[in-house]
Amino acid sequence: MLRRTMTEFDIRAGLQHVLKRIDEVLLQRPNEIQAARPLLVAVSKTKPAEAIIEAYDSGQRDFGENYVQELVEKSQHPDIVAKCPAIKWHFIGHLQNNKINKILSLPNLHMIQTVDSEKLATRLDAAWAKLKPASESPLRVLIQINTSGEEAKSGIGMNEAPKLYQFIRNNLKHLQLVGIMTIGAFGFDYSTGPNPDFVSLMQVHRSVCEANSLTPDSVLVSMGMSNDYDRAIEMGSTVVRVGSSIFGHRAVKA
Ligand SMILES: *Cc1c(COP(=O)(O)O)cnc(C)c1O
Repeated sequence: MLRRTMTEFDIRAGLQHVLKRIDEVLLQRPNEIQAARPLLVAVSKTKPAEAIIEAYDSGQRDFGENYVQELVEKSQHPDIVAKCPAIKWHFIGHLQNNKINKILSLPNLHMIQTVDSEKLATRLDAAWAKLKPASESPLRVLIQINTSGEEAKSGIGMNEAPKLYQFIRNNLKHLQLVGIMTIGAFGFDYSTGPNPDFVSLMQVHRSVCEANSLTPDSVLVSMGMSNDYDRAIEMGSTVVRVGSSIFGHRAVKA
């Protein structure tokens, strides 16, 4: 047990390291990239409530989960509810229709990053209209784009993304569309050049901004994880989703 304690990951240090690295990259980012300071979403999937509370106590507010059931449990966990009143939950996993009501009724749900079809968007819009407290603002969403074109990945195709963007903006008043997101292919070899998933997402970002007369910094770009958030920021990412660099390695899910 003693050994276990000694090798436990230092979450505060992990968080500080990532925030410092973000600052470093920002200083080097080319000036022509007009983008806000990136928001760090700490991806806490598979990690216990104590880990989240530790990160919260170190100043972190935005957290990401990609399994509905885990988000249900954590967002209502008595210790988290008591100790993390200003926590903001981001859902970053695939959302099935039959889980929509469950997820939208959770406390402190801040954003759904994975909207990838008109159908899902329409259902979220209708469900939020019914469920949200009267004072609540529209539900923040990002469109997830499958930039790598891998069949197993969720997300709408690059070419259809601007149309979905338009559809949500024009028709779904209970959703606040704040940007786009990609996961991308794993294990890209950076010695071969810039990550094509990031290049593609920035292309979609440009066309969405142009088509809707939006300034680049008003459309969020969620890309970059532990192994490449710095590269993503160099290219214009404004939301990075970082798990293992903050919380330590995850046990592999069975
Ligand atoms: C797990 C996960 C992350 C974080 O991955 P790390 O490599 O641990 O930083 C980011 N985004 C999504 C969608 C994830 O599922």
